[in-house]
Amino acid sequence: MDAGGMGQLRRRDMASAISGAGRCRLSKVGAGRRPPPARVRVAVRLRPFVDGTDGAGEPPCVRGLDSCSLEIANWRNHQETLKYQFDAFYGEKSSQQDIYAGSVQPILRHLLEGQNASVLAYGPTGAGKTHTMLGSPEQPGVIPRALMDLLQLTREEGGEGRPWALSVTMSYLEIYQEKVLDLLDPASGDLVIREDCRGNILIPGLTQKPITSFAEFEQHFLPASRNRTVGATRLNQRSSRSHAVLLVKVEQRERLAPFRQREGKLYLIDLAGSEDNRRTGNKGLRLKESGAINSSLFVLGKVVDALNQGLPRVPYRDSKLTRLLQDSLGGSAHSILIANIAPERRFYLDTVSALNFAARSKEVINRPFTNESLQLRVLAPVKLSQKELLGPSETKRARGPEEEETGSPEPPAAPASASQELSPLQKLSSMDPAVLERLLSLDRLLGSQGSQGTHGLNTPRRERMVLMKTMEEKDLEIERLKMKQKELEAKVLAQEAVDPKDKENSSPTMLRPLARRAVTVAKPLKKAVVMPLQLIQEQAASPSAEIHILKKKGRKRKLESLDASEPEEKAEDCWELQISPELLAHGRQKILDLLNEGSARDLRSLQRIGQKKAQLIVGWRELHGPFSQVEDLERVEGITGKQMESFLKANILGLAASQR
Ligand code: ADP
Ligand code: MG
Repeated sequence: MDAGGMGQLRRRDMASAISGAGRCRLSKVGAGRRPPPARVRVAVRLRPFVDGTDGAGEPPCVRGLDSCSLEIANWRNHQETLKYQFDAFYGEKSSQQDIYAGSVQPILRHLLEGQNASVLAYGPTGAGKTHTMLGSPEQPGVIPRALMDLLQLTREEGGEGRPWALSVTMSYLEIYQEKVLDLLDPASGDLVIREDCRGNILIPGLTQKPITSFAEFEQHFLPASRNRTVGATRLNQRSSRSHAVLLVKVEQRERLAPFRQREGKLYLIDLAGSEDNRRTGNKGLRLKESGAINSSLFVLGKVVDALNQGLPRVPYRDSKLTRLLQDSLGGSAHSILIANIAPERRFYLDTVSALNFAARSKEVINRPFTNESLQLRVLAPVKLSQKELLGPSETKRARGPEEEETGSPEPPAAPASASQELSPLQKLSSMDPAVLERLLSLDRLLGSQGSQGTHGLNTPRRERMVLMKTMEEKDLEIERLKMKQKELEAKVLAQEAVDPKDKENSSPTMLRPLARRAVTVAKPLKKAVVMPLQLIQEQAASPSAEIHILKKKGRKRKLESLDASEPEEKAEDCWELQISPELLAHGRQKILDLLNEGSARDLRSLQRIGQKKAQLIVGWRELHGPFSQVEDLERVEGITGKQMESFLKANILGLAASQR
C-alpha cells in the first residue's frame, strides 16, 4: 500500500480532495427498520494504461459500453466479443470520486443503522486494487474518503443533545498464508476467527483503536501500512500476496432508556491478486504463498457458487478469508465488490476470470440486519439474581476483583427484589426465561470475544445455569404435552357429544370407545380381554349389573381378525359370554343398523373392522341394498364366515351393554 503517500496527505488536502459537487451527505435513515434482502453490488473498474507497463500503445482488450456494461474480446472467436453487465462500470477516465460516490458512499449510512457493510477490491495484481482502496495523496481512494465521511457523520449524529452517543474504532489485519496477523500489533501472532450467537464474526484479541478524527486514524494506520511495506520489500511483493482488511466499527449507545446499543462494522478489503499463480512459474515460498492465495480465493469462488445455488452448506470455514467474510457475503452486510481489471493484453486471461467471478458474485443475496442490544446496565439485576443462585461460599469464590472493588452492585430495577428470600433453585426457576436466554446469549458472546468480565457466569455455574435452563425447558415441554393431551381428550368427548351415533354408543357407559381402546392398551401386557372384563365387572357392581355373566373358559385361544390390515389379536385369556336374549337381540340390531346406515368412518369404530373392510361393506350395501341380518356380512366379498363370527363376538357384547 502507498503508506508514504498517505502520510504526506494532510487533512486539509484530503478534505478538499473528497469534497465536490457529487458528494452527498450521509443521513441516518430508517433506523430500526428491517431492510429487505440486499444483493451484493458489483462494480468493475478498468484502469488506464499506466506508464512503464508492457503493451502501452496497443489497443485495449477490454472496453466499456455504457455505465453498467463492457465487452472483452473472445479468445475462442476473434470476430466476437463477450459482454458483461454489472451494477456499475467505471472506465479508464473515471476518477476516485466517481467510484466512491457512485458505489461506496451509499452503503455507509447503514453503519449508523447498526448494520454491516463491506467493500472488497478484487482483481489480478497490478490491476488497480490498492489504487482504488487507498489511492495516493493526489487521488485518495475509498479508505480515506470513507473514514473522512464516517468520522464527520458520527460527530454530527453523536453530538451533545442527540439521542445516541457514537464512537468509532479501527482494527487492521492481513491474512497471509492462512494466518490472521494484527497489523496494529504485529507481535500478536496468528489470531483465531470466531462467530457469536448472532452470527457475527469476531477476532478475539484483535487490537481495536478508538478514533475520533482523521488524524488519529492516520496515526494508527500509517505505521501499520509501513509494516506491510517493509514486509513487501523483504518478502518480494508480500503485500500483493496477502489480503489486507481494515475494520471500522461504529458503536452507538442510546443516551436515555431503554439504553439500546447498536454496532455497525465496515470492512474495507484489499484482496490479494487473483491472477493464476500457476502460470507465473512460482517456486518455493512463492509457490506456497500462491497456494494459500489461490486456495482462499478459490474457496471464495466456491462460497459464491454455493450461495448462488442455495446449497445447504456454504464452505465459509474452508479458508480464513471466507470465514472472515461470512457476514459480508450472503451474511448480514451490505456488500460491494469492486473488480479491478487492466486493459493490457497480458492481463487478458486474468481479466476474463475476474469478470466471471464478478458476474457470479452479483447473484449473491445478503440479508442485512440491525445489530441492536440492550446495555449491560439493564442486565445488571439479572446478574445479581444469578449470584443469589450460589451458596455464600461459592458466591465469595466466584466474586471477581471488579465486584469486590466496586462494592455493592447497582440496586435491582427488575421485579426480582432482594427481599424475596428464595432458595437458589427457586430463584432460577422464577427467572423470566427470556431474560435467562438473553443472559446466556450475552455470556456466549462475551465468551467468544475472550472477555474476562463474566465472573458470575463461569464454569461450573455457567454449566449449572445451562442445565437448569434445559430442565426448565423440559418441564415446560411436559406441561405443554399434558395440556395437549387434555385438549385432545376434551375434543374427543365434545365430538362424541355432538355425533348422535357416537352419543348413542358412548352414553352413559362409553363402552364402545373403551372396548376399542382396551385392545390397544392391553396389547403390550398380552391381556387383550382384561379391560372389557374389568369394565363389565364394574358394571356388575351397579344395580342393573345382573344382565351379564362371564365365565373363564380357557387360555391361549387365538381370535381371528376380520380385517387383514389390522394386527391379529393374540388373546391369552378367553371368556365365554352369557348374555340375556333381549340384550343379544339389541346388540345385533345395533350392529345391523350400523351396517346399513353407518358411513365407512362409523363402521371403523366397530371391532375388527378396518378401513378396507369398512369400504367393502359400504360398497356391498350400495350394490345390494340393506343387510337383512348381521350374518349377511358373510356375503360381502372378502369377509369369510369365520371372520363374521369373530366380528359378532367382538362387538355384540359392547353394543348390547350400551343399552344400560
Ligand atoms: P494492485 O493493487 O491491484 O496490485 P495497484 O493499485 O498497485 O494494483 O496498481 C498498479 C499500478 O497502476 C500502480 O502504479 C497504480 O498507481 C496504477 N493505477 C492503478 N489504477 C489506476 C488508475 N485508475 N489510474 C491511474 N493509475 C492507476
Ligand atoms: Mg495492491
